[in-house]
Amino acid sequence: MALMNDMHDPHAGYRLPALFRQRPTYLHVDLDATAHNLAQLRERAAGAQVMAILKANAYGHGLLPVALRLAHEGVDFYGVAFLEEAVQMRHAGIESPILILGGLVGYQTKHFIDYHLDITASSLYKAQQISEEASRLGRTARVHLKIDTGMNRIGVRASGAVDFALSVAKLPHIELVGIFSHFVRAQGPDMSLADEQLEQFTDVLDGCKKQGLEFPYVHMANSSALFNIPDARFNMVRPGISLAGYPPGAHLDNGLGLRPAMAMRTEIVYFKGIRKGTGVGYMHTWNAPEDGWLATLPMGYGDGYPRILSNRGEVLIRGKRYPIVGNISMDQMMVFTGQDQFAVGEPVTLLGRDGDEFIGAWELATRADTIAYEILCGWTPRVPRIYEGEGWKPTTI
Ligand SMILES: *Cc1c(COP(=O)(O)O)cnc(C)c1O
Repeated sequence: MALMNDMHDPHAGYRLPALFRQRPTYLHVDLDATAHNLAQLRERAAGAQVMAILKANAYGHGLLPVALRLAHEGVDFYGVAFLEEAVQMRHAGIESPILILGGLVGYQTKHFIDYHLDITASSLYKAQQISEEASRLGRTARVHLKIDTGMNRIGVRASGAVDFALSVAKLPHIELVGIFSHFVRAQGPDMSLADEQLEQFTDVLDGCKKQGLEFPYVHMANSSALFNIPDARFNMVRPGISLAGYPPGAHLDNGLGLRPAMAMRTEIVYFKGIRKGTGVGYMHTWNAPEDGWLATLPMGYGDGYPRILSNRGEVLIRGKRYPIVGNISMDQMMVFTGQDQFAVGEPVTLLGRDGDEFIGAWELATRADTIAYEILCGWTPRVPRIYEGEGWKPTTI
């Protein structure tokens, strides 16, 4: 296990002197689990290459440790949301192709080309901008065309996509590396929209092919489609949440044996008896139903633990569930342990496994009226990160 303090990763937590012992709240990331998940997904991809989607700080796990470990595992391709994420990866020594999935902001085009990054072209105008900038720099820009088959986020609508592709193909200083689209809904049970999207995308590919235009990389499958729609795998797939070890929906079991890589743990910092009827926390939203014991944890919504879980969430202590009581504060929260007595320093699990019990990101998400994605990437930078597993130390930074 290693602390991240010695790395220049702005998401890794506060930078502190070596050997400084941080507060006992930490995000634990098991990079061996990430590597295991990649291996399972590769098998499921059945020959298609894997573009590891590492946006939002690798779904909260820490961009550089995850990216470097996956490089160690020989991952083919990376995808992130924004330029800045990819630039950090290049500075950490990652040389594989990286596609920036998000829309291109014109003034950043030069940096995309400088850093050898794959650009998403979502309109002919953007493609022309890219071509002009590449020409100015005396370089060739690597481009993937984004086709909108229903998401209505970015991309050229399927109806105009063949003309778009042919026009981009004529632009100088552009290397057409790929073409892609994204599913609105592919986790089921209703697959009609996904089927329609896939048909639109396939029609675009056929139309291009008739005009003699083919692409090295064709990709459409997120985790859901990777599991559910074999025809959507083409020659590259784009899993994100499944690399983190979670299925893309609350009650899905893809039978893959994915392993959640993230755990969130802390320790009891204060422990005391509480009399029946005593109010706890801001606004006294909870009163003790009986005499018992109350644990205070040094963690709150300022760390990314959703405040909506006040009087709704649970934690694990010695493999047993206990309720979070009263309003969660910015930096602290209280847990009622009933008649069970613990000492200060007792480990507490907020996310992850403890003995036979497990609190997963989908459980937290369901209780908090959100999705596991938001739970995973919602931990704030002040939470120290601890990494387990080898192969992630950066070469240069
Ligand atoms: C986030 C994202 C993915 C990954 O989705 P998961 O559901 O996490 O597998 C794939 N492609 C695009 C364009 C995305 O934005």
